[in-house]
Amino acid sequence: MSKPDPELQTEIRTRVAAIRGPDGAPLGDGGRLSEIIVRNGRAYFFIAVSPTEAASWEAARSAAQVAAAEIAGVTSATVSLNAERSAAPAKPNQASAPATSFPALAAVRHIVAVASGKGGVGKSTTACNIALALKGLGLQVGILDADIYGPSMPKLFGLRAKPTVIGERTLVPLDGYGVKVMSIGFVVDEAKALVWRGPMVMGAITQMLRDVAWGPLDVLIVDMPPGTGDAQLTMAQNAHLSGAVIVSTPQDLALIDARKGVAMFQQVDVPILGIVENMSYFVCDECGKRHEIFSHGGAAKEAARLGVPLLGEIALDPIIRERSDAGLPIVVSEPDSPHAETYRSIAQQIWARLQPGRSRSGAAVR
Ligand code: ADP
Repeated sequence: MSKPDPELQTEIRTRVAAIRGPDGAPLGDGGRLSEIIVRNGRAYFFIAVSPTEAASWEAARSAAQVAAAEIAGVTSATVSLNAERSAAPAKPNQASAPATSFPALAAVRHIVAVASGKGGVGKSTTACNIALALKGLGLQVGILDADIYGPSMPKLFGLRAKPTVIGERTLVPLDGYGVKVMSIGFVVDEAKALVWRGPMVMGAITQMLRDVAWGPLDVLIVDMPPGTGDAQLTMAQNAHLSGAVIVSTPQDLALIDARKGVAMFQQVDVPILGIVENMSYFVCDECGKRHEIFSHGGAAKEAARLGVPLLGEIALDPIIRERSDAGLPIVVSEPDSPHAETYRSIAQQIWARLQPGRSRSGAAVR
């Protein structure tokens, strides 16, 4: 029989704590180890380092990952370097400060991930328009562009300014049509982010969750990096998500990927709020007819099979792309269009599913 996760947690901590960092001190002594999360034998944790130290800690990170993975009952281990600016060895009483507690998110009622199994399905476009439609319902909304490999929010919201920094390192989100927007694209050159390795990506996402003055929000939408790797899983776990929305195109291949997305959130007990089928059909300019260019309806079947709602079907329409490219999302630039109406309906369903008194654990309900 496999060992229970809490037992593995203790074993991993004991084993990894003895590994020495480049400073010669055992990892367990320096207060650098985060909470160790184990789910169904899969382990995740961070080692806190400062950005200047990151390269020298790679060997210790890798050794910790190997040591954790070698423990009988651990099926996989993902160890990330969490590079924060002031990560000088923490005080001993902070030794197990969990990577899961972010005071900056204390007044955020719900965090909702918008995810897709693969890139290019319109996840960011959907996330942006859903955020604006939620705002249109009179809610206080933020959007975090966690798609580190291809940050789209600066373009989608037409924002070019740099966020101001308050205090030592807290970033103030920019305002995009009344939605608080934060993107790695505001602070890092896109070409640089593209070459980041997994651990740095996780560190960057963690910083954006922790070091941004989100203030009170009803919903924070997180535009997730595409795919279902360990970075996504760790993010799903750490952000204490209220739920996830999966975006898929009708093609079967994308649906297989979408299924992986659903499975990933279920693995960490994050409720799936529903599936959005994007580029679902095409309405011809000339004849005004609806053309189902791909085998339409795949998402409806898949949603029914998984027992999650199909939140809506968004047409493939060049105007959506054109407006997105121009920083004029369709929900604000064409509020009377059927597309905006669909996004509003999706937002209403999301809010309805989040509403009944549920709140992220630890978040202050106002
Ligand atoms: P992802 O975040 O999944 O990589 P994006 O949101 O960046 O995808 O969208 C990829 C491209 O498809 C963008 O050029 C975007 O403008 C376009 N696009 C997204 N949704 C639609 C749609 N419903 N109709 C037309 N173009 C779309």
